[in-house]
Amino acid sequence: MLYNKFSDYLKMKYGTKVYKLPVNIPVTCPNRDGKVSRNGCIFCGEEGAGFENLPNSLSVSEQIRQNSKYIGENYKSERFIIYFQNYSNTYLSYDNFSKYIHEACVEGVVAIYISTRPDCIHDRYLELLKTIKEEKGIDIVLELGLQTVNYHNLKYLNRGHGLAEFIDAVIRIRRYGLESCAHYISDLPMDNFDDVVEGARILSALGVNQVKCHSMYILKDTVLGNMFEREEIEPLPLESYIERTISFLEYLDPEIVIQRLIGRAPEERTLFCNWGTSWWKIKDYIEEKMDREGRSQGNRFGYLNGSRCLKNI
Ligand code: SF4
Repeated sequence: MLYNKFSDYLKMKYGTKVYKLPVNIPVTCPNRDGKVSRNGCIFCGEEGAGFENLPNSLSVSEQIRQNSKYIGENYKSERFIIYFQNYSNTYLSYDNFSKYIHEACVEGVVAIYISTRPDCIHDRYLELLKTIKEEKGIDIVLELGLQTVNYHNLKYLNRGHGLAEFIDAVIRIRRYGLESCAHYISDLPMDNFDDVVEGARILSALGVNQVKCHSMYILKDTVLGNMFEREEIEPLPLESYIERTISFLEYLDPEIVIQRLIGRAPEERTLFCNWGTSWWKIKDYIEEKMDREGRSQGNRFGYLNGSRCLKNI
């Protein structure tokens, strides 16, 4: 096994094909509405991450109905993960959060994935999710934007939170019997190779359950986009992304599920994305290189629990 693939994990866990259905709710982000900052992360487009969603004027139930009809007919699946994708989906009143999450608990749903920021995780919301998991048997995964563990570069990216909030969020989520997924960019030009390796080591030490890798993409009318147009920042070459991602995987606990090796960006307003190559080709390049060089997820894992110093004592 080269790495712990999400599709294999889903098949093993649910015994059938499972598809993620994106759901878009009227929510914003504290890094955009002024609570933390008005500028957002330097790479963030106005849609947050959810550029492929149905409009949030539709109810959660209607979005699930439309998306599941399409997926069910085209991919022959009757089991779904509801994915609250855009912006920070726990950054809303408790009552609204509860209403939207309950609306997502419908027939065929095996899990709810909720994308949010590490500084938007709160005990009261986690308690609610724990109850849903226990009463309805629906798995809950909180997807946390992190991107780098280098706290200087978290500042550079204007993330508006440090590493401490991420660590707290992961520990807190696990305390409630829920799961976490970290979003990670391994080719940030301001990060060096050691930052990427330390990223894998920290996620492993924390016991994060899943990881979603993506490359740095650059959108027009963002701070990063303006820097790129002024030639103040230069994306790393594709070879660096491939090598960094493989090294990241090598240091990662092999139990951690890899949701994806590379993401996609919106085609409109994109100044730079995936070196002008399709995401699936880059995924193939990574897998081929791993295979050719005999490298796999976790083959450099084994640094926790005193295992380097106390192995033979
Ligand atoms: S946390 Fe997410 S939605 Fe908020 S500014 Fe950053 S990338 Fe955009």
